[in-house]
Amino acid sequence: MVIPFAHFAGVKAETMSTSLLTSVSNISHLVCSKCQQEYSHESLQRVSACCGMPLLARYAVSAPFSQKVLQNKEGTMWRYQEMLPVIKPENKVSLGEGFTPILSLKNLGSSYGFENLLLKDEGQNPTGSFKARGLSMAISKALELGVEGCIIPTAGNAGVAMAAYCAKANLPAIVVMPRHTPKAFKEECYWYGAEVHLLDGLIHDCAAEVRKMNHHGQLLDVSTLKEPYRLEGKKTMGYELAEQLQWNLPDVILYPAGGGTGLIGIWKAFQEMIALGWLDKDVRLPRMVAVQAQNCRPLVDTFLGLQQNSQQYNGKPTIANGLAVPRPLGEPLMLQVLAESKGTAIAISEEEMVEGIREIGKKEGLFVAPEGAAVWMAARQLLSQGWIQAQEKVLLLNTGAGQKYVQNIEGQYLN
Ligand SMILES: *Cc1c(COP(=O)(O)O)cnc(C)c1O
Ligand SMILES: [Zn+2]
Repeated sequence: MVIPFAHFAGVKAETMSTSLLTSVSNISHLVCSKCQQEYSHESLQRVSACCGMPLLARYAVSAPFSQKVLQNKEGTMWRYQEMLPVIKPENKVSLGEGFTPILSLKNLGSSYGFENLLLKDEGQNPTGSFKARGLSMAISKALELGVEGCIIPTAGNAGVAMAAYCAKANLPAIVVMPRHTPKAFKEECYWYGAEVHLLDGLIHDCAAEVRKMNHHGQLLDVSTLKEPYRLEGKKTMGYELAEQLQWNLPDVILYPAGGGTGLIGIWKAFQEMIALGWLDKDVRLPRMVAVQAQNCRPLVDTFLGLQQNSQQYNGKPTIANGLAVPRPLGEPLMLQVLAESKGTAIAISEEEMVEGIREIGKKEGLFVAPEGAAVWMAARQLLSQGWIQAQEKVLLLNTGAGQKYVQNIEGQYLN
């Protein structure tokens, strides 16, 4: 039995409780994404005790609450603070994340027949990727709930972001990453003062090591969807898309899916905005496309029915480090977003990613991460297959800055 997303994101009107009077946040509780059992947001939570699945934050809005609250708010993701989980503003750990620009890719789009091709450039976030959103939120909540330190298995960007926000919050940070991760990611963690462990394997091997290192549970494991708040940071992309596009959503959104927090978060944001009345009840929501690497395509294989789920999937490394997630915990939620949005899933080869980086660089002056290039190549393929129509409004998410990946693609501009 699958519970519709709208159910989790329902923003119940409630009478005002005392905690709401002193809080900038309308968070009311957490729910298990599998069975809807309720959990408190006032104590530290990891996955649900009932099902071992991700917990989702729910909000209760006490009074009519219009988009007008956004006037005069700061130009970061914290402008949506009423729909974010941090209760006390002094716990906010911010480096200026979010509210990244949406750029029109006129040169690139017109050369392939796209009439309205847009790119939200998440490479402009602190630490060079959209991981900043999730980790800013998770570390803020960790501070609010009195955590003593944080640990993370990472393919690169999440570890860098965690290290930075822990530094800002004055919390100890341990980062466990694959040895083959490009040097720029490792170095940046060191400069933020984190303890870095390198091991042979992919992110799920790092996750096993984290479980061993943290068997007493003294540190908060901020792995994707193993605590409820990184998702709340990532969902701000959905709010921004709506606000920055004057509440006219794209027809198609393409997202490079690893653990899937962005995909799930954007969809959750749309459902919340419908519940708030910020989006029309019968608005046509975008078709969501999950883009993966041929080298690691667990979601694509499950979506196409080639396997029942990804729990035994083995992936290979890819130059798109963020996509090397062979067994994502959030797979059921990602599949649900694809189903509810009438979206699809598609995999892109390493060579195609390099070609995409080159094209976007030359035609648009943007140096995107291989993950962002994959999304562009997926749009090209879906247009030529007729799944995307030329006149549709198509939005690409470039999730990271290309600079950190130079080691992965060195010299390949010549090819
Ligand atoms: C982590 C990452 C992704 C995948 O994000 P998920 O939330 O794990 O799906 C995509 N692109 C970049 C650059 C990343 O760092
Ligand atoms: Zn449950």
